[in-house]
Amino acid sequence: MASTERTCGSCTACCSSLVIEELSKPAFTDCPHECAGGCDAYASRPTSCRDFRCLWLDGHLEENDRPDKLGVIFTTTHDEQVGVHPLIVEAEPQGVDRPAVQDAIQRLTEKSPVLVLTPAGGTFHPKRRQTTTPLTIDGQAA
Ligand code: SF4
Ligand code: SF4
Repeated sequence: MASTERTCGSCTACCSSLVIEELSKPAFTDCPHECAGGCDAYASRPTSCRDFRCLWLDGHLEENDRPDKLGVIFTTTHDEQVGVHPLIVEAEPQGVDRPAVQDAIQRLTEKSPVLVLTPAGGTFHPKRRQTTTPLTIDGQAA
């Protein structure tokens, strides 16, 4: 059951891992506005930042699975061939290798292809195809 009660708090996982087009910020680089409290430009942050909500923020996963703690961001993206499907973006080094994340990938691939994005590139599981296309913060191919 989705909840609307969660807040990002000090998590800046998406700020560090995703492309922010308005700031010309590539994937897997810190945003210059990241600070201890989150964002030092919160009131004037770009639309991409305002619009993005990871699945944890929307009440999915466990309370302790906030992306900066879990090591990955769970979200969705769209592919012309398979439609909307899960996207997992690495937020901490080797985050996708953690057993809990590998278990989740295994479960999710029973229903749909899963795109896993790391600094090394993107990989579809099961291996439907390989891609190194960076994604924007809303999950669409750049
Ligand atoms: S990854 Fe999720 S919880 Fe973390 S800052 Fe982004 S939207 Fe918020
Ligand atoms: S502007 Fe703020 S909300 Fe947007 S990516 Fe940078 S730190 Fe995050």
